[in-house]
Amino acid sequence: MKEWTILGNCLKGGEKLQTVLRVPMDGIENAAKVEGFDHDGSYEIPATLICGAGEGKTVLVSASIHNGEYNGVPAVIRAAKAIDPAKLSGNIIFMHCVNYSGFRTHCYRLVAEDGYNLNAGYPGDENGTAGQRIQAWFVKEIFPNVDFVFDLHGGGAEEMMTPLIFWPHHEPVREEALAAAKATNVGFLIESHADNGEYSYFVHGFDKPAMLLERGCGVFCTEAEVKADYDDIRLLLDHFGMYPAEDVVYDTALKRRVFHKTIYLEAEREGLWYPAVKCGSIVKKGESLGRLEDIFGNFIREYPAEDDCYVLYYTQALALEPGDAMVAYGLLASEE
Ligand SMILES: [Zn+2]
Repeated sequence: MKEWTILGNCLKGGEKLQTVLRVPMDGIENAAKVEGFDHDGSYEIPATLICGAGEGKTVLVSASIHNGEYNGVPAVIRAAKAIDPAKLSGNIIFMHCVNYSGFRTHCYRLVAEDGYNLNAGYPGDENGTAGQRIQAWFVKEIFPNVDFVFDLHGGGAEEMMTPLIFWPHHEPVREEALAAAKATNVGFLIESHADNGEYSYFVHGFDKPAMLLERGCGVFCTEAEVKADYDDIRLLLDHFGMYPAEDVVYDTALKRRVFHKTIYLEAEREGLWYPAVKCGSIVKKGESLGRLEDIFGNFIREYPAEDDCYVLYYTQALALEPGDAMVAYGLLASEE
């Protein structure tokens, strides 16, 4: 009989467990500072663990590394409910909501206890702040025990995006990750050079493939986007031969555009940002992506596209500080 032991839980083949994963926060002063939220000495991450009856990959699907990027949360909840362990080959860790304190207290993007961004700063620190400890826990307890990470994000409060997947520029796994990205219903597939966010640290630290999905924006949670996230989870599991997609349809009419070069424009000074583009649209070389003005309305400068490109996402926050993201645009490499 197949067995799977993960985080002290021993599941038999065909078993599903709804549980709360606990990241140790012993002795940390800021762990229980969020009013009305009792950590009981640990940080809680609601999860569903599914041990399939058959052999196969172990996949982590995580939502809400950044709170406010909501669509992933109900999508994970639905997928965790829908999967019949008797028909599953492999194992799945569904993390319904990683930044659960931020989620419950409406602390957007960051961990409520320490204002930490869980998608930067890996590998964390097991003696550090709450957010650093969560990362160190991923590195020690989760990443060595999974074969693939599918991390669900969205534009949140400040970014307007077209649905896209970041897949890693890391030679041992790049083809495998790109093939997984192409198996979803996402049309913009961006080769990423990042190396210290959740999925990207996993990729570089463990030489295993992963991808990060961005869908939705404006801290909204919509049925269409939740359904699309859910479909992509199911299509990924089908791609790995773990679970049939059944009634989830692979969109054969959708163009899948691959980008190897993406330009991430950042503000070089403080100002008010007025984007001139729409996400997913084509912009020709030299055309304006947007302009920066000061608080009195004085023109600072225009930002022309360096080449013919697709607009992937832009910041809709009006106020920019130096180094803040303005717009990202990709130079199309292939389309199929
Ligand atoms: Zn995010």
